[in-house]
Amino acid sequence: DFYFILLGKSVKNKFLFSMTYDVIVVGGGHAGTEAAAAAARLGAETLLITQKIMTIGALSCNPSLGGVGKGQLVREVDALDGLCGRAGDSAGVHFSILNRSKGPAVWGPRAQLDRERYRQFIQSELLSTPRLTVLEGSVDELLVSQPNPEEPGHHRVTGIRLVDGSHPILSSSVVLTTGTFLSGSLFMGQTTSPGGRMGDAQSCAGLSYTLKETLGLRVGRLRTGTPPRIVKESVDLSLAQLQAPDKQPTPFSFLNTHTRCKPEEQLPCYLTHTTPGVERVVRESVHLNCHIQQDAKGPRYCPSIESRVLRFPGRRHQVWLEPEGLTSDLLYPQGLSMTMPPELQLRLLREIPALHRAEIRTPGYGVQYDFVCPTQLTPSLQVKSTQGLFLAGQINGTTGYEEAAAQGLWAGVNAGRTALSLPPMALSRTQSYIGVLIDDLVGRGVTEPYRMFTSRAEFRTYLRPDNADLRLTPRGFEEVGCVTLRRYKKAVSVRDGLQEALMALQSVALSSTRWREKLVCSLTLLYHVSFSLSGLDLLQYKDVSFEMLASAFPECLSQYFEYSQRLKIEAVYRPHCEKQSREMERIRSEESLSLPSDMDYLSLPVSLSQEVREILDRVRPNTVSLSKTTTKHISTVYVSKVILKKYII
Ligand code: FAD
Repeated sequence: DFYFILLGKSVKNKFLFSMTYDVIVVGGGHAGTEAAAAAARLGAETLLITQKIMTIGALSCNPSLGGVGKGQLVREVDALDGLCGRAGDSAGVHFSILNRSKGPAVWGPRAQLDRERYRQFIQSELLSTPRLTVLEGSVDELLVSQPNPEEPGHHRVTGIRLVDGSHPILSSSVVLTTGTFLSGSLFMGQTTSPGGRMGDAQSCAGLSYTLKETLGLRVGRLRTGTPPRIVKESVDLSLAQLQAPDKQPTPFSFLNTHTRCKPEEQLPCYLTHTTPGVERVVRESVHLNCHIQQDAKGPRYCPSIESRVLRFPGRRHQVWLEPEGLTSDLLYPQGLSMTMPPELQLRLLREIPALHRAEIRTPGYGVQYDFVCPTQLTPSLQVKSTQGLFLAGQINGTTGYEEAAAQGLWAGVNAGRTALSLPPMALSRTQSYIGVLIDDLVGRGVTEPYRMFTSRAEFRTYLRPDNADLRLTPRGFEEVGCVTLRRYKKAVSVRDGLQEALMALQSVALSSTRWREKLVCSLTLLYHVSFSLSGLDLLQYKDVSFEMLASAFPECLSQYFEYSQRLKIEAVYRPHCEKQSREMERIRSEESLSLPSDMDYLSLPVSLSQEVREILDRVRPNTVSLSKTTTKHISTVYVSKVILKKYII
């Protein structure tokens, strides 16, 4: 009665289809694919259900991955054996490290992607993942039971029901990753229609009903938009500024030494700017543009052209013309997300000199959707009031593929652990950007689409893109169970090699006079110190490279050439990280002090202002650690955690 289209390996099992799984993942976007793959890697029998198999791994908006803060997330997902880093290496057509003028801790690995290659990579990875079945269908209802009649409002998930069938599919863990599809509405000009993405239906109403009415979850509304896609041939690229990729592409994945696209095959991007004519078209079309008149908040750091010109009138705004793939005949105009009527979109584009004859293949549009306020989740991304229900991705109020992938992986890990009767796990914000992301979401919530920045991580000199494997891969294998042996062995061998190399660098200690003779160069610093310096001490200085030291001590250092860049970065940041280690220790110990979920903050017999009590009652912090705090309200809460320490469990 209900149709299944099972992907590749599963087709032959069509009629043997099991109706019980350890984990069910709903949604095949960036969160859902990582969640399903992670749960299966953990050993859980997993079912991924998504509306359309052909859109698994689709890049709904920009054809790119990574960037400042986001690139760190991709590297961490990769270090935990996730998919997106390797997919990026396979699909990248233009690689660059952003923020190169700053220190390596805040470099942002980024790539323009070939949309087709990205989708194909993700789909073929899922196909070859043992214990994972993929099913095309639409989930209409979450099945829940009430574990204890004395605990009204507390539920346990038991499975899902599809829209086309009456048969339930049972599972003790369900991960919801429905992206922009929950009560999604699409906007273009004055037209509004239900949908989660152009060409895709919104999530079934039953799902929203279960979340809001049955489970009583607080839900908010956000919006985002995407630019028109432009026919490449119609663009006069001679009027735009060429932006070349890095000469040598840097792979995202720790497993890869090179990317699929050869350095010389990479495609360029182009930079151009808006003109006063663009602002004029925006102003003249405001009354024809329903999306911008909505109250829902849009992404502050990826705003539409309408928001940009209305907020900053008279300015020239950057527009990046980016390739959509190796064989695609389209360009993606980053910075020109817009929702006015299509004929005005064309008029607006043609106000930009390089686009004066531009042709649009598909117009831009906006989407408005429900998100679940993430303070209702635990650090394992489980809904506090519903055992076994996990949420990840845009449904939690974030924006971006990388944020979705990071949450998906961690929700999949915990859904798998729950199904296998293992305790849930949290990632500390002292240990990873994924920990920072989840802590920010569940601890503070969101008022606008959340995106990652390096400034959100207080320990960013330690949470670097270069060392994500050392921070996460061993733990991912030894404690979490989501890392395969092959990757673990590689990370351990790198860790041992680096440790040996650091010891070797420390063992070569000379006076400054001897170093001057050895290095045969005039480093100013060597004229100012009288004490002896190790190779590691020297390596932290700007003008000293590992290669220089290795040529001075070839017998003990030359075998470590492969680590030269990592050793340089480690030497530069080591003194600072050592200083921060006490603060990191403090936060970790606070993160390990859980607060009871049913604490009655309103009548707690301690001296707390009513305002703080109400905030605590609403936020219901998971642990005593309330992390970096900026607002007046939360800093009051921060102080009061000293009092709360008395009540920890
Ligand atoms: P998605 O990638 O949206 O995946 C959700 C999946 O769930 C889909 O496969 C869908 O088919 C499936 N699904 C939904 N409901 C059901 C159901 N009931 N049953 C079965 N399957 C279901 N990000 C940015 O960073 N910058 C931007 O400017 C930006 N603009 C965007 C503009 C638009 C128009 C859209 C649609 C998205 C935009 N994004 C942008 C967001 C980006 O696409 C998301 O952040 C990212 O894709 C989120 O990943 P996800 O896995 O949470 O959800």
